Amino acid sequence: MSEAMMTAVDVPQLDHDDTPVPAAKKPPVDPAVLAYRDLKGGEWWRHVPAYRDVDEATFLDHKWQSKHSVTSLKRLLATMQDIVSEDFYADVERGFMLAPMSVRVSPYVLSLIDWDNPWDDPLRRQFIPVASTLMADHPELNLDSLHEQADAPTPGLTHRYLDKALFLPLDTCPVYCRFCTRSYAIGLDTEQVEKVALRPNKDRWKAAFAYVASRPEIEDIVISGGDAYNLRADWIREIGHTLLSIPHVQRLRWATKGPAIMPQKILTDDEWLDAITEVVERGRSMGKEVVIHTHFNTANEVTEHSLRAMNRLMERGILVRNQAVLQRGVNDTPETMVRLVKTLSWINAHPYYVYMHDLVRGVEDLRTSLATGLRLEKIVRGVTAGFNTPTFVVDAPGGGGKRAIHSYEHYDRETGVSVYTAPSVKPGRLFYYVDPLHALPESGQQRWANPDERPRILEEAAEKARAHIAWLEDGD
Ligand code: SF4
Repeated sequence: MSEAMMTAVDVPQLDHDDTPVPAAKKPPVDPAVLAYRDLKGGEWWRHVPAYRDVDEATFLDHKWQSKHSVTSLKRLLATMQDIVSEDFYADVERGFMLAPMSVRVSPYVLSLIDWDNPWDDPLRRQFIPVASTLMADHPELNLDSLHEQADAPTPGLTHRYLDKALFLPLDTCPVYCRFCTRSYAIGLDTEQVEKVALRPNKDRWKAAFAYVASRPEIEDIVISGGDAYNLRADWIREIGHTLLSIPHVQRLRWATKGPAIMPQKILTDDEWLDAITEVVERGRSMGKEVVIHTHFNTANEVTEHSLRAMNRLMERGILVRNQAVLQRGVNDTPETMVRLVKTLSWINAHPYYVYMHDLVRGVEDLRTSLATGLRLEKIVRGVTAGFNTPTFVVDAPGGGGKRAIHSYEHYDRETGVSVYTAPSVKPGRLFYYVDPLHALPESGQQRWANPDERPRILEEAAEKARAHIAWLEDGD
């Protein structure tokens, strides 16, 4: 119900005049603690040279946002002009050449970057590659580290968990993230990677629907991509209604980074939002849950436009959950992670997951150690209500699925190897997550530098993990 509708009915109001305030048991809170509620407003984008004359109506127009997204150094230069140093442009030029991922950044994101210090800015770090911070990939890294293709019965449909499938109807997004787990498929080919094509194709979709219909155990479908923001309204209806019509499918999740990087679309693309709303409402009438899963990584992505977009979704009864990725220089301190969780709670994007960073080519500078995740998890737990407290998970490389980060069977800080099991996903197998080499002590880095040592590192970790599993089983 909108605010206007609320005031139209007779609602009780708090009367402060004659009710004594009970004595507090806690000291007054420092206003700084509540600073996460002060969201950026006004016309902040006008400090960007190319947006100096852009009024609010234009900046809110999703078509304008899309058309003016930056995909090349030339467009970045034309947008930022002389407020960025030549050193930075030179770094970006080399970064573009070495990046495995295509580059696409919305005006909204560009306008939120601190251009006085772009190297350290958490949004720049996620979207604009620079050569100077590149680090060698970990020796254990594969391009499709989560084995999504190996677990796909038909292209673009991954069936790993018993009751859940991941459907990838398209391979484009409104922005491209440097760290995308699906850099094997998402975006255009780059100088470094020729992508697996997952273009929108009705025959491919039909094969995916037929598979889901043939498997009565599948109750839950994540519709990702690419990004559901880039699905046309008629595609959203076709996909949503077809999946809802399969009797055993009980839950749909539209996965989109959109609210974090272009909230304007929710405010001005009525056709898209009406299609999502129609599927949500039909699902509700059938007793099925249809929600949005989004992907904010830092409170710096949240503005008054985000709040307005989230309120519009809430008015339509659309639940939003957030899946963040733990990233160095983005959200890897207690302050930045707690602020992210509190800000998301404030705008009603439930902080559902924080993922350890997957092993993705060309972004070792963004990964943190598992130890960092373990420390942050302890700090975050308790700052807010349990349903707004994210679960910290590792998406176990090799297709083990999501494991709570502290459920490892063994973790060695010297080599950075942690070992997980996934008894309900792939029983009997061990899955290895590895910390980035830059987070290891010198001795650990030296062991990984020697190719003969690498199998030994993993075998030692496996032995210790097996001993731990046996110890746990002895307790039965
Ligand atoms: S929006 Fe999602 S799928 Fe698209 S590039 Fe970013 S992480 Fe990858």
